Amino acid sequence: MAVGQPSGRTALVIGAGIVGVCSALYLQREGLRVTLVDRAGPGTGATEGNAGNLGVASCVPASLPGMLPKVPRLLLDPEEPLSVPWTKLAAMTPWFLRFALAGRRQRVEEIADARYSLLSKLFEAYDPLLSQSGAETLIRRDGLLQIFEDAKYLAGSKYVIDLRRRHGIRIQEMSGDDAREMEPALGPGVVGAVFLPDVAVTVNPLRLAQVLAEDLVRRGGTLLSETVKGFEFATEGPPRVVTDGATHAPDLIVLAAGTWSKPLAAQLGCRLPLAAERGYNLMFPDPGIQLRMCINSRDRHVAVTPMEHGLRCSSIAEFTDPDAPLNPAHTDVIERKAKALFPTLNTEGATRWVGPRPSLPDSKPVIGPAPGHPNVLFAFGHDHIGIAVAAITGKLIGELAAGRPPSVDLMPFRPDRF
Ligand SMILES: Cc1cc2nc3c(=O)[nH]c(=O)nc-3n(C[C@H](O)[C@H](O)[C@H](O)COP(=O)(O)OP(=O)(O)OC[C@H]3O[C@@H](n4cnc5c(N)ncnc54)[C@H](O)[C@@H]3O)c2cc1C
Repeated sequence: MAVGQPSGRTALVIGAGIVGVCSALYLQREGLRVTLVDRAGPGTGATEGNAGNLGVASCVPASLPGMLPKVPRLLLDPEEPLSVPWTKLAAMTPWFLRFALAGRRQRVEEIADARYSLLSKLFEAYDPLLSQSGAETLIRRDGLLQIFEDAKYLAGSKYVIDLRRRHGIRIQEMSGDDAREMEPALGPGVVGAVFLPDVAVTVNPLRLAQVLAEDLVRRGGTLLSETVKGFEFATEGPPRVVTDGATHAPDLIVLAAGTWSKPLAAQLGCRLPLAAERGYNLMFPDPGIQLRMCINSRDRHVAVTPMEHGLRCSSIAEFTDPDAPLNPAHTDVIERKAKALFPTLNTEGATRWVGPRPSLPDSKPVIGPAPGHPNVLFAFGHDHIGIAVAAITGKLIGELAAGRPPSVDLMPFRPDRF
């Protein structure tokens, strides 16, 4: 069957974050009749508030050699980005043990290769979706500057820089003065920088998800505002999807509900160590400074992104319930760090946001059929790279639905690896 020709098969995608929206679009391109279900509208989960970076440079996993001894200090110092409420520590310990094991050098290399296999195809997968929806201007390709205020952090980044170079990523190391020449708003404390010219950025991830979802509907797809409660199982055929409004009986189900996929996957018999790694951001609507590109401070663990609606500063990895209330202490820390980086930053009118990265301890998503349910495909767990690899994930979901061999080896991402 030619791509895009209606097949009569139906698919229901649970979750209209960037991963669900891209999966729905690729299923539609494969000729399926697609329904996309979200409890709160496209892009309103982690997708809404992220830093918007898209680049192969993100092949570096979260867990790295030598990280374990730093954990106690990271947990105890409120200025550091790691946060686990004491009441959650015991429950999170197995996750952190797996995370620590993923930080052994050999594993880091394997995980980086796996992440690279997705990230290296990010633009070829996004481009058709951006051009069919007219969303090209929502992604800019200006590069990213990593800045260092303490030479010790710069020296400590050697392994990561080497890892990136070994994956063919273009990197330019420069002095603090060179960095200030590129970005005059930077303060005098910057002593060195690394420029990654091939990193792109979305200037509004929420709008990106919304525009892509509108395109799905314009092409005949259905967008439903319902909350999925669970599944009903028959002796034969795919499960039915039960929502607060209806019971749906699609031929194919894609579970792409970000961190909220965990209880739904468990109902399908698949227990995964999926954590809600909550990130925070502050949006400065009138920052009073102009940045040409994204800036990441390695010392302060803050990502700064010039967006179409202001300057976004993001940070924090808080492991707790995905829907817990925002903790203003975290956004206060981000504000202090942003002011230290950009002394003339205007913070008036800033808005605060929190949202959960869907994170697995080995820094890889799950993409593929649910164990025991060939008509249910999993597409979640994209931690810090969900915006970057949403389109390639969607493309792979489309290929699996069409019964074609996936264009990326899915072994590293199989749902039964835990
Ligand atoms: C601060 C921060 C910075 C980040 N920076 C970057 C970055 O620079 N680059 C990058 O690539 N990634 C980044 N990420 C990660 C990225 O945002 C996520 O990986 C990505 O958004 C995950 O997308 P998703 O579609 O899987 O999940 P989500 O965006 O969380 O979407 C899940 C959707 O499912 C819906 N849903 C949940 N439960 C149900 C239910 N029962 N019924 C119906 N609908 C349901 C929700 O409403 C939501 O819309 C960042 C994340 C954060 C928090």
